[in-house]
Amino acid sequence: PVDVVTLGETMALVAATTTGSFAVGAPARISFGGAETNVAIGLSRLGHSATWIGRLGADPLGHLVKDALRGEGVDVSHVRTDTEVPTGLMLREHRTADRVRVSYYRRGLAGSRLAPADVDTDLVAAARVLHVSGITPALSESARAAVHTAVDAARAVGVPVSFDFNYRAALWSVTEAGAAFRELVAAADLVFAGDEEAAMVVPAGSVEEVAKELAALGPAQVVLKRGAAGAYAVVDGESFTEPALAVSLIDPVGAGDAFVAGYLSATLDGLDPAQRLRRGNVCGAFAVSVAGDWEGLPRRSELATMDATENVAR
Ligand code: ATP
Repeated sequence: PVDVVTLGETMALVAATTTGSFAVGAPARISFGGAETNVAIGLSRLGHSATWIGRLGADPLGHLVKDALRGEGVDVSHVRTDTEVPTGLMLREHRTADRVRVSYYRRGLAGSRLAPADVDTDLVAAARVLHVSGITPALSESARAAVHTAVDAARAVGVPVSFDFNYRAALWSVTEAGAAFRELVAAADLVFAGDEEAAMVVPAGSVEEVAKELAALGPAQVVLKRGAAGAYAVVDGESFTEPALAVSLIDPVGAGDAFVAGYLSATLDGLDPAQRLRRGNVCGAFAVSVAGDWEGLPRRSELATMDATENVAR
């Protein structure tokens, strides 16, 4: 049995390594990313077993993603190769020093064709946690159905469901997403959201009010990710707050997924809520202070490096 099963879309990435518009001959870095594989990699690096369910194309980018995940120790035996369409792709320009522009080539492509038949319900039912994100139900009708197949399989046997809002404005409206998220919050045991995302489902208010309202919909644990302000949680009716770590911001993308990996890891380790928030914050700090969506995620032996008072360890 696996610690965490997750499912979703992962795309290849071409990221400019210099500032400005894409141009012929400009240097770029090839990688990949997707919220759920970011979480799976984070968990694997922390020593947990993680299975990612998703679709990739039968093309070089599909191989790149699968090989890299395998290299990270993520179980890819449930990844389906879709021979009809290619792997999705993201292009990231560092348009100016402060503005990143991401273009997506995903509609109708492999990742978005995830379907209920791709979900091994026995695998989900044997996991310690099922993790899903709010991106997947926005991709296609079949992807949305796949999320529900997995969630239903988990709930049927009491496997805790973890749900991260991950609202993507380019994919659907606040109204549409809000309705879908409300359903998933009610089905989840553990919910992650940003303050603004939470207000898509419950009335806007203070952090405490919003978290309490979300918890009232059912989940035993509600965690609000608050960027440089750290994180706040309501766990079994009790509230906890932990500050973020002071680090240099290099690349904010992936911080949320890193946080989720850290929080889930501490939960699997049986740590208390404050320690779960702390490990989430540490992983978020690693993610924002290294370039790449997931490349900076810590291994278990590195978690304590954020406590060091010296910049150089030797
Ligand atoms: P994204 O969608 O960009 O991946 P998010 O909006 O889901 O991120 P954030 O709240 O921005 O999530 O960040 C998640 C966590 O990462 C925070 O709770 C915090 O622990 C850490 N973090 C984010 N930004 C910073 C920062 N500037 N300094 C230190 N830690 C940070």
